[in-house]
Amino acid sequence: MIAEVIINRSAKKLNRTFDYNIPTEMQDFVIIGSKVLVPFGNSKKLEEAYVIGIKESSNYEVKDIVKIEDNLTDFQIKLAKWMAKHYFCNVSDCIKLMLTPGTGRKENKVQDKTINVIYLKKEIEEIEFEIETKKLKSEKQIRILKFVKDNEGCTIPELETFTDTSRAIINTLIKNEYLELVEKTIERNPLENKKLETTEKLQLTDEQQQAFDKIEESLKNEKFKEFLLYGVTGSGKTEVYLQLIKKVIDEKKTAIVLVPEISLTPQMLDRFISRFGKEEIAVLHSKLSIGERHDEWKKIKDGKIKIVIGARSAIFAPLENLGIIIIDEEHDSSYKSETTPKYNAKEIAELLGKVNKCPVVLGSATPDLNTFYRANLDNENSKKIELLKLTKRANESSLPDVEVVDLKMELANGNRSMLSVDLYSAIEENLKNKLQTILFLNRRGYSTFIMCRECGYTVKCPNCNISLTYHRFGNILKCHYCGHEEKVVTICPECGSDKIRYFGTGTQKLEQEINKQFPQASTIRMDVDTVSKKNSHEVILNKFKNENIDILIGTQMVVKGHHFPNVTLVGVITADSSLNIDDYRANERTFQILTQVAGRAGRENKKGKVIIQSYTPENFSIECSKKQDYDLFYETEIALRKQLKYPPFCDIILISFNSLDEKEIQNVSMNMYNYLKQVLNEEDFKIFKPMPCPVDKIQNRFRWRIIIKGKVDENTNLILNKALRMVYNQNFKNTRIGIDVNPNSMM
Ligand code: ADP
Ligand code: ZN
Ligand code: ZN
Repeated sequence: MIAEVIINRSAKKLNRTFDYNIPTEMQDFVIIGSKVLVPFGNSKKLEEAYVIGIKESSNYEVKDIVKIEDNLTDFQIKLAKWMAKHYFCNVSDCIKLMLTPGTGRKENKVQDKTINVIYLKKEIEEIEFEIETKKLKSEKQIRILKFVKDNEGCTIPELETFTDTSRAIINTLIKNEYLELVEKTIERNPLENKKLETTEKLQLTDEQQQAFDKIEESLKNEKFKEFLLYGVTGSGKTEVYLQLIKKVIDEKKTAIVLVPEISLTPQMLDRFISRFGKEEIAVLHSKLSIGERHDEWKKIKDGKIKIVIGARSAIFAPLENLGIIIIDEEHDSSYKSETTPKYNAKEIAELLGKVNKCPVVLGSATPDLNTFYRANLDNENSKKIELLKLTKRANESSLPDVEVVDLKMELANGNRSMLSVDLYSAIEENLKNKLQTILFLNRRGYSTFIMCRECGYTVKCPNCNISLTYHRFGNILKCHYCGHEEKVVTICPECGSDKIRYFGTGTQKLEQEINKQFPQASTIRMDVDTVSKKNSHEVILNKFKNENIDILIGTQMVVKGHHFPNVTLVGVITADSSLNIDDYRANERTFQILTQVAGRAGRENKKGKVIIQSYTPENFSIECSKKQDYDLFYETEIALRKQLKYPPFCDIILISFNSLDEKEIQNVSMNMYNYLKQVLNEEDFKIFKPMPCPVDKIQNRFRWRIIIKGKVDENTNLILNKALRMVYNQNFKNTRIGIDVNPNSMM
């Protein structure tokens, strides 16, 4: 028998099958979906490959398969092929998401209480740049760095085994500050140390019961159906999920629960464990080590797990007998992958729901506009989502009062501090009453940028066309795109003036200002700079809660579904930062963030207060969040989208190019443009000329883009895939192309 395999490499040219002989002794074991090792080309090392077809004979002289490592199901292979077509990538890129992480690794020996694990020390962009410019040449070193990139937190033995390298090379990389060793307490079962009281199910409110009944009906009928559980923050969506899952488990079926990033919401996980115990729950998220992920995945494959809770990629968990898929906070942009394969977990969930004939439940207080649109379509087309509403908070706490402060007026009245008079007194009041406050500012660092007052010079990154951000810690300027750092200038390099000023605000500066204005208050800060590799979301949040810290200062991260009973005040320092982004979703993002932050206030019997500071209080997304009126927001925004023809009324196709060579990128993007002009018809598609991206250079690579507006269907997919092949066949050297439909960011 002959196996048709796909080689596990990302090169576009390898996105096709190769034939290999299945040795007699392996014939019973190699199936479609097997991961195997094969000799390939002149390489001495065996290559990983996936069997995607089996046939009687081959037209070529073929080599033998050497080893079988793992098996996927038929369905997984089909799914991978489907994804490759729809997300414009290689089949092997997609298969990787479905394999047991770290298959073939040698079983770990008994471990100590603490072990040394490995992280990248340099930013990945910088490493990639060094590889590209041949500053880094050693194939083994590159192999190690690539592995660590995908498996941060791996152990040294793991690293040696998987990359087939030695300790000496790893040590060199540590010495040269590419890698760092971090001491970590091990917890092979990520839930091992969790000890929680069990909770019984709550008596559902009428609204909850109605929603529950509707979804239960589709469980009973074993039919695919998609639901949108649209419920204000604190309306008890999670309780509905828990009771649905109980039904599913009683039927001997299994459940997948997706949450934005589980490591950000330990409280959510706790609620599942205290209801179902930890034996039958698996968690999958990016903070697990490769060993942990391997073990969780294996437990799932062995049928020991009933509930998988995880971030985006947990949608590929190999559960059998799936009975329900739940996607919490479904509006969250992390469900769409920004790296290859650029899949959308909600689309995969829909596919899985259809195959497994089970319901898919999307939950949110501020649904994605596309989802809400589909849930409100009148015609009974097959795509329709059934809308279920929860309008009241479950534990009868009332929604917080929201006040919007006009920062222009504050300035006019001579207040130049970051806190308006109202926010200042509200914080003061809260401190007096020993209640907690959350302050939200969507920008990390200290000041946004520094500028010369005399000549207007700003310090920009030498590699990227973007201003550097000032970080007080270490007194350095940092590029948030590539990680480049340099010392702060005190004399302007352009004109020699010493009038260098700091502009804008960041979380660091806010914390300093709060400490100055309220020296009696304890504060804690949460942003990517404080929450880095050492798993400290949970630590910071627990500290804030348990030690009753007065003020939590943070970026986006504080917005997700945490529940702090003692928080009664939430302050938004500037609501405008998300409005000023060059994206058609700016209003939607602003409304979502403000509503989610506001939802953190007064979640129990204490009345909550929210103060939103803004330079544009008249903007309707700010007004709607003041009224906490999603429906009004939706009506206004959907009318705008319709008028300007933006999703959901069309799709946005982003074709992005990046290259070290400016001439080449122009040629390649122009070729692509001309080709698409011929094959896409003008009535249905508006194709914009190739243009530099808003951030037109990152890490010395030029960036161009083509934007197309139109409805993407199977035929469009075919055309785009063909266009990609056509351009890649032109043998240019330096340019990479990506296609993304409705990407999160257009920058
Ligand atoms: P959501 O997921 O919609 O934000 P939660 O499920 O977190 O809401 O519920 C908010 C609070 O209300 C929680 O403390 C939860 O225990 C409580 N709760 C939920 N459902 C009920 C119910 N039926 N009766 C009483 N309390 C409830
Ligand atoms: Zn100057
Ligand atoms: Zn940079």
